[in-house]
Amino acid sequence: MQPELGNGLSPTGRHDLADSSLFEIVSRVEHDINDLIGALALLGVKRCSQCKSFFRSAEPGALFECEQTVCYKCIPEWWPSFSMRLGVNDRERAEGKLASWLRKYHRAEVVRETPGKVPETANAGFQMISKCIECAGSGKLMEGERCRFCNGAGTLRIVVPK
Ligand SMILES: [Zn+2]
Ligand SMILES: [Zn+2]
Repeated sequence: MQPELGNGLSPTGRHDLADSSLFEIVSRVEHDINDLIGALALLGVKRCSQCKSFFRSAEPGALFECEQTVCYKCIPEWWPSFSMRLGVNDRERAEGKLASWLRKYHRAEVVRETPGKVPETANAGFQMISKCIECAGSGKLMEGERCRFCNGAGTLRIVVPK
């Protein structure tokens, strides 16, 4: 079977031809790069969506994956804008995921908010606020007494030391 070549209706002039072949080359290169990134992922190498650096995904704590793949270094810049775009439920889920990832791999600590006391932040690298899991953010336990885990604030501060 012969493929149909040119139906004589193509309006492509010489100038457009140069443009379109350049476009073709660029999109082919782009396609090849995406193939390579896919192949690297199979080998366990993934790319940070923010700084475009490559990381071995088996390396503990190198990459955080939540819709997007983000390296540890890019988290402080990425998290505020990313979390703002999420709905309440998705944000709480992402918060919990990030909080436990930071605790597992980056020595993050849970800091209780003490009412009337300004939190010590001099030693903090990155920090985020997450809903208290114990009282589901209400600050109160079932019996109506103040949640001891978050001191009644309903939120916890997750702090990664510098
Ligand atoms: Zn990065
Ligand atoms: Zn609580």
